[in-house]
Amino acid sequence: MSSAEEQTKECSKCGQEKPLSGFHKDKSGRLGVVSWCKVCVSEYKKQYHQKNKDKIAARQKQYRQENRDKELERSKQYYQENRDKMLEYAKQYQQENRDKITEYKKQYYQENREKMSEYYKQYRQENRDKISAYRHENRDKISEGMKQYCQNLPSMIYEIHNTITKQIYVGQTSVYKRRWNSHKSKLRKGTHPNPQLQKAWDKWGEDAFCFDVVEELPCDFNKEQLLEKEAALMLEHISNGVKLYNEDIPK
Ligand SMILES: [Zn+2]
Repeated sequence: MSSAEEQTKECSKCGQEKPLSGFHKDKSGRLGVVSWCKVCVSEYKKQYHQKNKDKIAARQKQYRQENRDKELERSKQYYQENRDKMLEYAKQYQQENRDKITEYKKQYYQENREKMSEYYKQYRQENRDKISAYRHENRDKISEGMKQYCQNLPSMIYEIHNTITKQIYVGQTSVYKRRWNSHKSKLRKGTHPNPQLQKAWDKWGEDAFCFDVVEELPCDFNKEQLLEKEAALMLEHISNGVKLYNEDIPK
């Protein structure tokens, strides 16, 4: 018997006699090849493709979709199997790039402040039970973390301005940023320890007031010095004829 290259076969489509190498292989076919020659198959494919463009595009899209899920599933599985290694890697990356990450987060937060605050608000509303259960279970850890967080916050001298009457409340705090929220929360409830400020808040409304940081100081700034600075600022205001809500100057 002669070699496969020398054997020929008639294409059942175009009827041409061609060597077997001119046909695609098919183990189940006669002579181990398909019945149409390569040229006819390719022509048919081209025509089929032309006629079924939309159908094919849809199928490809579906294929990609299905494989995206598969891909996601694969990476999820990979993560589960290599969790410790990846966490270790992430930790190391964070340690080595701490400043870069902090800077990036800060920038991202500033650029997306409203979007994020909206997102968190919604998340909190939708997961109220989950959050409160988590808080309950981890209350010791959270309070320890909060303590540490507050210890690391800068101290500051701040003022609450009544933008209408120009009267000022002077304060100092070592829990930076949380202070204005804490004032607002008490003022809204009507339980602020400073009755003059509370009265003004009730009269002029929340929108009349703004919070200003006068001076930011290191987190380990001495409390007595902080009080001295506060007193100095109050005296300065008084000597300039500015009315204060709190006139008890700390000694
Ligand atoms: Zn043919």
